[in-house]
Amino acid sequence: MPIALREDAVGLYLHIPFCERVCHFCAFVTRGFREERATAFVKDLITEICLYREMQALRGRVIETIYVGGGTPTTLTGDQLGGILQACRDAFRVDRAAEITVEANPSGINGPLLEALLRAGCNRLSLGAQSFESDELNSLGSSHTPVQIEMAVRLARQIGFRNLNLDLMYGLPGQSLERLLANIKSAAALEPEHLSFYNLTIEEGTRFARDAEAGHLVLPSHDLMAEMFETGRSTLEAAGYVQYEVSNFARPGFTCRHNVGYWTDREWLGLGPSSHSYLDGERFSNVESLQEYHHCLLRGALPVAAREEVNYDLRLREAIAFGLRQVKGIELAQLERRYGIAPLKRFRTPIAQATSAGWLEIQEASLRPTRAGLAFADDLGLAFI
Ligand code: SF4
Repeated sequence: MPIALREDAVGLYLHIPFCERVCHFCAFVTRGFREERATAFVKDLITEICLYREMQALRGRVIETIYVGGGTPTTLTGDQLGGILQACRDAFRVDRAAEITVEANPSGINGPLLEALLRAGCNRLSLGAQSFESDELNSLGSSHTPVQIEMAVRLARQIGFRNLNLDLMYGLPGQSLERLLANIKSAAALEPEHLSFYNLTIEEGTRFARDAEAGHLVLPSHDLMAEMFETGRSTLEAAGYVQYEVSNFARPGFTCRHNVGYWTDREWLGLGPSSHSYLDGERFSNVESLQEYHHCLLRGALPVAAREEVNYDLRLREAIAFGLRQVKGIELAQLERRYGIAPLKRFRTPIAQATSAGWLEIQEASLRPTRAGLAFADDLGLAFI
């Protein structure tokens, strides 16, 4: 039987569902920003936080990371974001050294907003840069320009942010390897502590999905995408970034603790419309509609749309599948302690297959993806599910 699956630390995710406009690739749940809508939403979100406090859902567990994402959280004012973070502190046990990340759009920040975020305890800012080429940003439907990215980074530094992430995409329509490398060079020149380097995926229901279906989207070939990933990560490594997960690179000491939680079997509570949670062995998700979210909270009910119990076996398999997205892989002894199994024996077949395919290796008592295996992390993970 499992030993102790429930650990003290949890992550908290807060979904802010507004954007200035919807990017052509984005499948996140977002709504057009309107002031009165935002005011009502902040009230609802704080009500949801209070409901979880009353239920003692976290029962004193320590929140070690808070991630405010969306959407574009910085469509809200500094006071609104500060009020939400304060409500979390009042309701839960937030670690004094918690990592608190707020996502922002480079075109939507200003000095007073960033100062308010710092005062509210935000110590990590994540900017959705995506590209440093104007035409690429236009094709993505982004609302910012390359100059605004540089200005945003400079401003954040001036205000005092010491932990910055830039999101950078590859595999954009019509993108060449040379242009991608120019993008990486521009991003690295701004010296962020962290870079999320991820490929464009065409998600159902997006403008890009419709364009692709109509044959209007020219995407890089599969081989070029593989070359972009390979050359991109070597270039980032040469610039001093260490890859720690398939799409994530950081200067030493600046991994994103919140996201690492998702890959290391830590539980989290997600609040806000469409957010997902994984708490006490149960997975549950909130309603997507802002209106439905509001109506639930108005009558004092949790806005949960679906619940699913994750059985012990699935949890173990997922812990391996997600853990293998990390460069360091999974420590075998830790898995054994936590789940009371001998991983090499229990998963003999998938381990043997992945090892002979050159995707997996056992090193220093850890199960680790090889450099080649990281490029196929989704398939590698699926072998254990
Ligand atoms: S700003 Fe971010 S969340 Fe909003 S539509 Fe664009 S990619 Fe999606």
